[in-house]
Amino acid sequence: MTDQAIFLRPKEVSGVRKPGLPVLPFGVERHPVPGGGSRAVAIFAGDEITLQDVEGLQPTEVVFFNHEGKSDAVMIGAKGGRDPAGLKASLLQHASGRQVVSALARSGFDLAGADGILAFFEGSQAGETERYIATCDGLLIVCAAGGAMDAHAQWAPTEVVLYIKRANPVALKGGALLPDPLADPLVDINIQPGEAKPYLVKAGEFIQVLDVQGRECSDFQAFSLRALDKGLERDIDPTTTRSLMGSLYPAPGLFAKYFSVDQEPLVEIIQDTVGRHDTFGLACTARYYEDLGYPGHVNCSDNMTRELAAYNIHPRTGWPAINFFFNTLLDDTHAISMDEPYSRPGDYVLLRALTDLVCISTACPCDIDPANAWTPTDIQVRTYKKTEDFKRSIGWRKTPGADMEETKKTGFHDC
Ligand SMILES: [Zn+2]
Ligand SMILES: [Zn+2]
Repeated sequence: MTDQAIFLRPKEVSGVRKPGLPVLPFGVERHPVPGGGSRAVAIFAGDEITLQDVEGLQPTEVVFFNHEGKSDAVMIGAKGGRDPAGLKASLLQHASGRQVVSALARSGFDLAGADGILAFFEGSQAGETERYIATCDGLLIVCAAGGAMDAHAQWAPTEVVLYIKRANPVALKGGALLPDPLADPLVDINIQPGEAKPYLVKAGEFIQVLDVQGRECSDFQAFSLRALDKGLERDIDPTTTRSLMGSLYPAPGLFAKYFSVDQEPLVEIIQDTVGRHDTFGLACTARYYEDLGYPGHVNCSDNMTRELAAYNIHPRTGWPAINFFFNTLLDDTHAISMDEPYSRPGDYVLLRALTDLVCISTACPCDIDPANAWTPTDIQVRTYKKTEDFKRSIGWRKTPGADMEETKKTGFHDC
């Protein structure tokens, strides 16, 4: 395997470490295409497209559509005329195909008339690259073709990495595009910093809290609807949760549930691509900003109180909450301090409602400390049907500069 650098990375021998900052140069994106899988990415005129065959010998199919749905290899300066048969097969067989199918359906493009380009078809070496320049805007689809390998053969499909050097790059925080939903969402709401939004979730449904631009906190609270009907406020209690789960906060797996003071489980965490959150502190309060010299600053607790009034929930000066992506730490003197969040653009947590709930999520407006990397940005909340099949997983990276991968379900999981 080779990790030959195509784009030189800015190196810092010493100095302040900035968690969450992209390791690639400004304007360069990396989209790994899993072996046997596919990826669809929006392209703009002048963008430089580079494919790298990481392990070698991986035939790769490329298709490009312009906005009118016309497909021609010449639009990215390549030689076409191939039938993208591997791509058509991959869309049905590989899990990564779902997002490509939805991108094709949204734009109404048809693969039947596509002008296929074949890269790395003559026995490429590990680390070899192919480069194209887009002459117009459009949709690029890349497929690392190949299916399940015969037991006696040696041709398992392997990863291809797609790099895009944007001709007109956008700002570092605030320029990331909203990732596609994991499935058809029931609720799909955008929360701007300084807002809190409530939403209803039924037992079994999924809740995704997505940090669109990275390094932004989102405070979360959930109330049992059955308790509310009886006039009781039963919300997530971080102290009960810590006591029952034996950890600072639950993670996907065996100890994954958040509880109320009645020790009723309200939500379970199913996926977490970050793994660094806070359950010690309150959602930010008016007093916090006042103490630091900013009286009257918009804050998450007051926003939550205001929005929850519609559900007859009493005001609280400060709300206990699950502060997703908030990076707090305890030092040797037991002082609680904070730093910039670990979350990167598109990172998320996926929860499952264990009973009918009123939930609320915020996008924190704090711009006076590192909680949101000094620049508050938006949060996206999506809910999904209870029939969706989302596997439990945590995100991890082989190296700090590598792309996030999700852990896979093992054969022992359902035992
Ligand atoms: Zn907060
Ligand atoms: Zn806040």
